[in-house]
Amino acid sequence: MRLNRKKRYTYYSSYSPSRRSKVRWDRIALIAGAVILILGIAVWLNFSRIQLLMKGYSFSQQNTILSLEHQAVDEILSHEKMEHIADWIEGSESYQLYDDYEKYLSLHKNLKQEDVLKTVNNIMTNYKPRFDALTYNEEQLWNILKIASIDDLNYLLAHEYTYSQVEPYMSIKGFAIGDLEKYIKVYNEKKDYRYAVLSVAYPFIISENDNGDSYIIQNPEHLVTLVKKGFRYPSSYVPSDLTKPSQIPVSPDCENAQLRKEAADALTEMFNAAKEEGYTLIINSAYRSYEEQEKVYKEIHDRYDEVTASSLVAIPGASEHQSGLGVDLTSQSVLDDKRNGISSRFGDKPEYKWCIANAHKYGFILRFEEDKAHITGIGNEPWHFRYVGKDVATEIFNNGWTLEEYCLYKGIIPNIKKEK
Ligand SMILES: [Zn+2]
Repeated sequence: MRLNRKKRYTYYSSYSPSRRSKVRWDRIALIAGAVILILGIAVWLNFSRIQLLMKGYSFSQQNTILSLEHQAVDEILSHEKMEHIADWIEGSESYQLYDDYEKYLSLHKNLKQEDVLKTVNNIMTNYKPRFDALTYNEEQLWNILKIASIDDLNYLLAHEYTYSQVEPYMSIKGFAIGDLEKYIKVYNEKKDYRYAVLSVAYPFIISENDNGDSYIIQNPEHLVTLVKKGFRYPSSYVPSDLTKPSQIPVSPDCENAQLRKEAADALTEMFNAAKEEGYTLIINSAYRSYEEQEKVYKEIHDRYDEVTASSLVAIPGASEHQSGLGVDLTSQSVLDDKRNGISSRFGDKPEYKWCIANAHKYGFILRFEEDKAHITGIGNEPWHFRYVGKDVATEIFNNGWTLEEYCLYKGIIPNIKKEK
């Protein structure tokens, strides 16, 4: 029996609870309890330091923060880590603003620490209460502070603009707070926020606002590029895919019937559709190089003067004919009249009427209409069509826009560089 028991004990020695191991567990529990108690006291005594550590503050930052009164430490702990906390503590006693300093610096990274302190103190003391009165909440005020100078804040307050009056324009490229009054004026007429901002930011797109500045187009191959007085192609620009539409007749006066491939194909499609309805369209003029335009312009310029010349012919670089997307059309009926000694104009013919009703289906727009000369800068040219692609042309047609208006409504601003 004894032997048996001993044997069993030996067998289970590595598993079974024994008197000896029971004693060991008691001791461990006691030690663990003591350690937990000591740790607890240590944590309690250093709780703030541990929280600061968890937020990522360095040991020296912890020391700086812990030198403040308890309330300030709690305030700091209630925010995300402030990288420049030592600067804020050194520069200001208003610990409630430390987070604002940090936020303001993160939005205006180039500012010096003392400027951040000065500006934020000024904003929070003198401006925030007035924006509160205009019902700006914290987030809205900070959205404004992202972009606003002190002058801008004064402007908003002077006009008593609420956040909901400012907000719709803010995300549009070219937005400037000081132009809000102008935006609102345009918006009231056009009912479009983007149009409002862009027409103020790029006033010269509309010809009547032309201030004489000149820009060189940097993306000349873009299908919807605005080319006109003030928006010129580089003299070196020649479209890479000029093609002569094979099936369309060309008038005897036409020197170059080439268009960019896409426009040439579209015009062929348009020609065939017109033909089916009994109308024969003729190309009167298509691609014109910078040099050719220069020659034409010079002839007129020599005969008259600069003002007259630029009203009759596009100045070199500013003609849609250099784009390979502009085409002057006429009709067989006009050529027949001419042969018979009768003077007639394409704009009076049924072919023209067919074109203005149908050209958009093939990607073309009538570029210069009489009542839009203040926008396009060019008077009535019933013969000049511009290729922009079917979708764009249809949208322009359906809305009764000019290409300029399309660019402003849709935010298609030409990639331009100011000419010196
Ligand atoms: Zn033309």
